[in-house]
Amino acid sequence: MAKKLHIKTYGCQMNVYDSERIAEVLSPLGFVPWDTTDGADMVILNTCHIREKAAEKVYSELGRLRKQKEAMAADGRRMVLAVTGCVAQAEGEEVLKRAPYVDMVFGPQTYHRLPQMVAEATRASGQQLDTDFPEESKFDALPQDRTVDGATAFLAIQEGCDKFCTYCVVPYTRGAEYSRPAGAVLSEARNLVQAGALEITFLGQNVNNYHGEASDGSTWSLARLIREAAEIDGLERLRFTTSYPAEVDDDLIAAHKDVAKLMPYLHLPVQAGSDRVLKAMNRNHSVDEYRALVDKLRIARPDLALSSDFIVGFPGETDADFRATLKLIEDVTFIQAYSFKYSPRPGTPAALMDLQIDEAVKTERLAELQAVLNAQTLAFNAACVGKTLPVLLDRTGKKPGQLIGRSPYMQAVVVNTSEPLMNRIVDVTITSAGPNSLLGTLEKDNQKACA
Ligand code: SAM
Ligand code: SF4
Repeated sequence: MAKKLHIKTYGCQMNVYDSERIAEVLSPLGFVPWDTTDGADMVILNTCHIREKAAEKVYSELGRLRKQKEAMAADGRRMVLAVTGCVAQAEGEEVLKRAPYVDMVFGPQTYHRLPQMVAEATRASGQQLDTDFPEESKFDALPQDRTVDGATAFLAIQEGCDKFCTYCVVPYTRGAEYSRPAGAVLSEARNLVQAGALEITFLGQNVNNYHGEASDGSTWSLARLIREAAEIDGLERLRFTTSYPAEVDDDLIAAHKDVAKLMPYLHLPVQAGSDRVLKAMNRNHSVDEYRALVDKLRIARPDLALSSDFIVGFPGETDADFRATLKLIEDVTFIQAYSFKYSPRPGTPAALMDLQIDEAVKTERLAELQAVLNAQTLAFNAACVGKTLPVLLDRTGKKPGQLIGRSPYMQAVVVNTSEPLMNRIVDVTITSAGPNSLLGTLEKDNQKACA
């Protein structure tokens, strides 16, 4: 009999990818995806440790699940409760102590061992912990066949991080940088296309530092991988995220110019606009270097739209430092951005730095920064009105007859249509724009970029 599996995913796209792969690993054991935690035979929380709030959410969700698990047990059924992701990796023992009703804790590098863990959890009643960084790569043990929900897919090509930004837990939770072999990536990309993907996003914590071994023993860069993947018949769009500015090389810049399938949208986190702060963050690039890089990218691909990550209230950030970040945003312009209050994370150097910033100051700075960023998003969206954009429709909207898709610039575009256009790329003329989405009508006109 099919067993119901509910996976709740927190955090970044890498976690989304991992959750999809976990479901694939468990499918041969009879687990089928289930939309809610109600009545689920197994619930997995795939967690994020990047900020304190993200980690704390996990414990409150576990408290809620405890009640469901107990109610099921009273009914003679068992809910296997598991925690994975970066909280599991960083504080596995702590999770088992704080939530003794959790059956399994496993890290992001060991989910290929899940069939064995599930068998043991079903047989025995003790808790299981597996947060190794195993010698073998999980990728070699994962199923070859991929399933695609809709027409877009993530593909992890690189994992881990050796950069050690002073605020960040990723190098500790995801381990050392590792690039998958080029052949394995291309084969997974072909499988995804065969399963219906029109768009693939290559993922990595430092995706542009990809250096995968090819079958002839040579090492491929991200640019080489993009050029080869673009040759796959049926694949229409390529993206990659997240990039580390100091590792963007000339070949990657050239790929933005030469490879039509590479979308004109780049997530390029800068974090701050003050050299002093960037140095304390150990970011390995200056503000001017970032500006020069953006100029080069825009010369190569004039319609390139940028998004970024920002942290406000890093220890020692003065008002002048913060103003410098605002100035950078005004000069560069971003069509989208993620911005956060600095959150001290245990075990990271910045958590021990002097001059931690007051919460109220962080809140004020974040609001000011987000107002500027939101205005830039709205201005970019408004500039698209009247333009025709190719949109990959892959979701139904809230209202009957509505389909939603993504423009090349990752904007959500809503169209009203009765035609069967799901999972197709169609030309849409934009008729109105809001901060979070665009509305358009189907057209057969030529594509034009927003500017
Ligand atoms: N590797 C990517 C990079 O270098 O930009 C980002 C990875 S991290 C998962 C995503 C974002 O979380 C970072 O870019 C940063 O802005 C934010 N972040 C990481 N640690 C943080 C912390 N301690 N407090 C606030 N934001 C943090
Ligand atoms: Fe974290 Fe820095 Fe690595 Fe990005 S580059 S994952 S921010 S340590």
